[in-house]
Amino acid sequence: MSGNITFTMIKPKAVADGNMGNIIAKITEGGFNIKAMKFTRLTKEQAEKFYAVHSARPFFNGLVTFMSSGPIVAAILEKEEAVQSYRNYIGATNPADAAAGSIRALYGTSIEANAVHGSDSDENAIIEGAFFFSEFERF
Ligand code: UDP
Ligand code: MG
Repeated sequence: MSGNITFTMIKPKAVADGNMGNIIAKITEGGFNIKAMKFTRLTKEQAEKFYAVHSARPFFNGLVTFMSSGPIVAAILEKEEAVQSYRNYIGATNPADAAAGSIRALYGTSIEANAVHGSDSDENAIIEGAFFFSEFERF
């Protein structure tokens, strides 16, 4: 399993903009197999916990407020080299720097509202997946 799994969220602004379906289609077109998917909403406390690694960063409070501002989609994705492959596919953190055709270039509107999350390591993919999916050990 390790190495083949990543975790993603479609962030509140992309959902509010009506791009949930487009982004899910783009994810599957990229060869990512959806292992689990949930439409949900984070509380402020859950967003703080999810992004705890960034708690000292100047953008932390804004990010937590944003990520708990509306519904999101959380999903576990499977593909060979899933973490790196998905990060390449979604593009740079700032949509302005993201490669043309990437999810963030297409659907991101600011460095904060950059359409999607993507795990940064195999270890974090598992931690983040388990944060949302209690049945994750079966995947
Ligand atoms: N972020 C932000 N301002 C910044 C950097 C990041 O609002 O200057 C937000 C953005 O939504 C990003 C998230 O914080 O996706 C986590 O930042 P990270 O550096 O981990 O970027 P990512 O791994 O998502 O590309
Ligand atoms: Mg990150």
